[in-house]
Amino acid sequence: MNTNWVYIKDLKNHVDELVEFRGWVWNKRSSGKIAFLQLRDGTGFIQGVAEKKDFDDETFEKIRKIKMETSVILRGIVKKDERSPFDVELSIKYIEIVHEPEEDYPISKKEHGIDFLMENRHLWIRSRRQFHILKIRNEVIKAIRDFFNENDFVLIDTPIFTGSIGESAGNTFQLDYFDYGKVYLAQTGQLYLEAAAMAFGKVFNLGPTFRAEKSKTRRHLIEFWMNEAEVAFYRHEDNIKLQESLVNFIVNRVLANCEEDLIEIGRDVDKLQKVSLPFDRITYREAVTFLNKKGFDIKFGDDFGADEETVIASQFEKPVFVEKYPRKIKAFYMQPSDEDPEVVMCDDLLAPEGYGEIIGGSERIWDEKLLIERLKECNLPVEEYKWYIDLRKYGSVPHSGFGLGVERTIAWICGLEHIREAIPFARTLYRVYP
Ligand code: ATP
Ligand code: MG
Ligand code: MG
Ligand code: MG
Repeated sequence: MNTNWVYIKDLKNHVDELVEFRGWVWNKRSSGKIAFLQLRDGTGFIQGVAEKKDFDDETFEKIRKIKMETSVILRGIVKKDERSPFDVELSIKYIEIVHEPEEDYPISKKEHGIDFLMENRHLWIRSRRQFHILKIRNEVIKAIRDFFNENDFVLIDTPIFTGSIGESAGNTFQLDYFDYGKVYLAQTGQLYLEAAAMAFGKVFNLGPTFRAEKSKTRRHLIEFWMNEAEVAFYRHEDNIKLQESLVNFIVNRVLANCEEDLIEIGRDVDKLQKVSLPFDRITYREAVTFLNKKGFDIKFGDDFGADEETVIASQFEKPVFVEKYPRKIKAFYMQPSDEDPEVVMCDDLLAPEGYGEIIGGSERIWDEKLLIERLKECNLPVEEYKWYIDLRKYGSVPHSGFGLGVERTIAWICGLEHIREAIPFARTLYRVYP
């Protein structure tokens, strides 16, 4: 049993040593005397070099003709190589083929259409660009957990099957649940987090949510990951501070730990470096006036779409909060403003460079009567919210929270054209395969 198996990320610590490599050949090129194998092992990419003189003729021919995505175990000497992002290359002395494909690998160097790539997503994730994006996703999720752990929040996992609609009736997935009848897939875990905040004070979750989004946009998935937080006794201003601290923390973590990945995918890192505290702020009313000046035919009470959000956010270099939207276009649970009862104490955080909303947050209604009134106004079945109303019966307190779209945040940080690349296996309007 060989014991000197080393991953690519650690090879730089083994210069001039004989090591074992286990992984895949993702590309190759060769001349008569020398073969260059592009290798990957899940921690990075390096070049392996095999020289004819080190092998018998038959083996060298095999290496020269090796098919893309052949899995191999190699032994070789680690050589310093400044041109490689990992500072090294591997001078191959021994090769064992674990599995060589019979057919040519379907994803080649040439340009493929997006449908073809999505149909082959199970293979596409092996490519360099997807590798770097999904590594950044991993870092974003680690950063979220660390942020909340470092700030003494308690993780509360909220359920996927729910008896009541969390956001809006329009885009729920309904299914039959034994004798209970109709239930929904969670559009949010917020209502449950509110219950948890009354038990633990500061709580967060991180998990998948489901929305039957019927329109095709570049920023809506059917199944997406949301990170929500809820804090007892927090008001609007506290909520804003928490959100900007979280987003600032995530961006700084990615810059610190994944700068190479960002550069590899062509992200303009300078733009991310402009993110700093505090973020900019604008009220919904100010935004309407601004949009009118820009020629948008929009009035108080209209919701903003992608175009409006892009124009607002393009005024700023870092994320911007749009605050205090009209009550009528926001969810039933949002606390109306004392000074301006037509608006609620909410915020949408818009990412710059055209990415738009990445967070929606608000103060929650904590008065029982007002909550029931709002449920009725929104035509929601009050009896299904009995437990939620209960929270307002026993030691109710003002509280606030928000939901951050994990893939939206990744799409912005990575500078992606479409959100589908921000998740390993995207579920979109027309795709649940693979
Ligand atoms: P939008 O206005 O873009 O449809 P929303 O206001 O419906 O978003 P919220 O209910 O506020 O979304 O959800 C919180 C966050 O979850 C959003 O700010 C966004 O980042 C993310 N999000 C919402 N819907 C989707 C989706 N279909 N796919 C991916 N992320 C989403
Ligand atoms: Mg929506
Ligand atoms: Mg919205
Ligand atoms: Mg929202």
